[in-house]
Amino acid sequence: MRDSDVLVIGAGIVGASVAHHLATAGAPVTVVDTEAPGRGVTAGSFAWIGSSGVRTGPAASLRSLAAAEYRRLESELPGLPVTWSGSLSWRTGDAPPVAGPGQQLLDAETVAALEPRLRQPPEWALWAAEDGAANPVGVTERMIDSARDHGARIELERSVSAIQRDASGHVAGVETGGGTISGRTVVLAAGVATAGLAATTGINVPVAASPATLFQFRGPAGLIRTLINNENFDLRQVSEDRLIAAADSADRTLAAVRRSFTDAGGVELLSAQVSGRPMPADGEPIIGPVAEVPGLYVAVMYAAVTLAPVVGRLVAEELIMGRPAELLAGCRLDRFSDARAGGRGVSAGSADQQS
Ligand SMILES: Cc1cc2nc3c(=O)[nH]c(=O)nc-3n(C[C@H](O)[C@H](O)[C@H](O)COP(=O)(O)OP(=O)(O)OC[C@H]3O[C@@H](n4cnc5c(N)ncnc54)[C@H](O)[C@@H]3O)c2cc1C
Repeated sequence: MRDSDVLVIGAGIVGASVAHHLATAGAPVTVVDTEAPGRGVTAGSFAWIGSSGVRTGPAASLRSLAAAEYRRLESELPGLPVTWSGSLSWRTGDAPPVAGPGQQLLDAETVAALEPRLRQPPEWALWAAEDGAANPVGVTERMIDSARDHGARIELERSVSAIQRDASGHVAGVETGGGTISGRTVVLAAGVATAGLAATTGINVPVAASPATLFQFRGPAGLIRTLINNENFDLRQVSEDRLIAAADSADRTLAAVRRSFTDAGGVELLSAQVSGRPMPADGEPIIGPVAEVPGLYVAVMYAAVTLAPVVGRLVAEELIMGRPAELLAGCRLDRFSDARAGGRGVSAGSADQQS
């Protein structure tokens, strides 16, 4: 194994994007995962690429770039399994909101033209023409394949048990069931397992699993043309006879789908999959070097399907150029005062502290 490798723990959509962007820029990379690419939370995602609307907080500017960054990724990886259907959002009974960036307020007639099989189009809906959706496993696999094609080593079916440090405290590699893999930089992109792995270096990364359910239905072809978000569900058509929904209850969702669309009485539930989304304590991404552990870099976030292309690019740039990315300034671990397991705060980290 090359000592100079950046070791990426996790071949979910985040780790895959980091690996793709590092490898295509010529950096030596090794990706380690217990499973096949994209088989963690990524496989259970609704995978809405949502960049529109008024947003605040550190992730807002990252989100506003999401659609453009996916378009760039599509040009790098032709045939990437992404669809650009636009999204329609409404809440029945609410007064119409002011449209935010990338959104347009539509009346019932225009909604009906976009979704002709809606029985009762809402009085208003927010239309985000630039929104889309990913086949999350397909996108992850393409990025891992690209990383491999650019020289990355992809070590699957290897579970990392701890991050190793040398006598000076610098990252030296990772321990796996199949032996040690050495590397002076470790990118921790292990989703909900990130906290446990960070703890092996004495660092507290405040991220926990937030359960959410993805339902799959069999339904008629062409039932839905866009991505619909309302008080009942997030819903989209993924193939001729398949729909997926992110929602709370199978029965309520099924009933809502059947009554909302014409000729939908035969829609049937095929599966329900509960996954734990990696949710940082304040809901915002945690991305950046860990000042207390030189060589350790964390990349964990909710809405990672939306953010993966922009985050992967910025993380690779920080690691390769050793210069902090302005867009990630609000995402650092050191905003939490108890980042060190012992309760003491960490000092500000910067990418140029990385090897
Ligand atoms: C129902 C649902 C709907 C969602 N909808 C959306 C949406 O519409 N838009 C959106 O942007 N996001 C959405 N999300 C969230 C999104 O799916 C996640 O944020 C994203 O998949 C997280 O990706 P990840 O790469 O961080 O984690 P993961 O996909 O979990 O990847 C982490 C990887 O690390 C590996 N790993 C873990 N521990 C170890 C170890 N010890 N050694 C080696 N490898 C290890 C795992 O095997 C896994 O492959 C949704 C999630 C759910 C569940």
